[in-house]
Amino acid sequence: VGGGMGRTHNKEETFARLADPLGYVETDDVYDLLKAIVATQRDYGDRVNRRHARMKYLLHDWGVDKFRATVEGYFGKEIAPNKSLPPFKYQDYLGWNEQGDGNLFLGISIENGRVKDEGNFQLKTALRDITKQFALPMLLSANHNVILYEIEPSQKQEIEKILEQRGIQITPEGIEPLVRYSMACPALPTCGLAIAESERALPGMVERIRVLLDKLGLEKEHFVIRMTGCPNGCARPYMAELGFVGSLPGKYQVWLGGSPNQTRLAQPYVERMPAEELETFLEPILVYFKQERQTAEESFGDFCDRVGFDAIRKYTVTYQSGASLGNEEEIGKPAKKKDVGKNRRHRVRLRDDLHARLKAAAEQQGKTMTEIASEALEAYLEKISS
Ligand code: SF4
Repeated sequence: VGGGMGRTHNKEETFARLADPLGYVETDDVYDLLKAIVATQRDYGDRVNRRHARMKYLLHDWGVDKFRATVEGYFGKEIAPNKSLPPFKYQDYLGWNEQGDGNLFLGISIENGRVKDEGNFQLKTALRDITKQFALPMLLSANHNVILYEIEPSQKQEIEKILEQRGIQITPEGIEPLVRYSMACPALPTCGLAIAESERALPGMVERIRVLLDKLGLEKEHFVIRMTGCPNGCARPYMAELGFVGSLPGKYQVWLGGSPNQTRLAQPYVERMPAEELETFLEPILVYFKQERQTAEESFGDFCDRVGFDAIRKYTVTYQSGASLGNEEEIGKPAKKKDVGKNRRHRVRLRDDLHARLKAAAEQQGKTMTEIASEALEAYLEKISS
């Protein structure tokens, strides 16, 4: 109990908070316990100050022991101590899975929760065709994906065909992982509370982060990115390894240090990062991460949490970029003036499936994606000009 994301900029008395474990009850008691919790909030929650009205502030002010004791008064008996659970693991259930009774379920990734048709990418039409033909039940997941279930194995091939024809990637490994684990709230133009862009801005930002990671020799790296257009935090940016929270039009508060499983609160690192300075802002932090991570398994969020913001700031203020030269060995060294501008890189958009194939080829051949794409383009351009 007592978890919540919403907060207000520059009002330190409002904050994101992790829930506290309250205890354990048998299934038959769940409803009565919920009534007791709601009654506690009804009678003791702040009814005067709207910014302080949420139950998380009651938990914060009281502590979980006092809260539990009060709930027990309404519940009419003691709440048993919490039973330990297996460690929480983030799962998005994408791709084909067995549902346990012989039937299947299929998780489909929906980038930023937007079901749409755009060029060859026809998700809306594909879902409509599948629904018309198979009338399958559908779940919307907490990570804005769609899960179709009660699928008979005999229907699998036809469903795959529809999705493939409509340009939908259903192999989880084929989805760019930065995209797969990212999430944005709708913000502008849908939400009247938005201060900055979110759903429309995140895809471009994620693409730029991928280019930067590749440039820094971190091609295999990915982490949880979240963006919201205001501090209400609808896309849970405060649990992300890299969270962007709109603070002014085109500017974002940046949160660092959440965990890959999204079980730890991140912390605000800067207040107003201009979107156009994303690379300048992130490069030194990512280079520090690359150089100082404890193991190859240490995630970006875990790294930021372990070393702390003081260490990150200390590193970044003395950092001199060499990455613009496109040479990994030069990263972190001062750029030579005469070289700046040589080997400058440009961005090209790729379809998800092409990106996945390029990535697989790069891994197989031990080359970077840029090398393979450059070789292929050079060969193609030579062919059409001869
Ligand atoms: S987080 Fe996004 S969707 Fe939520 S209120 Fe703010 S702008 Fe609107």
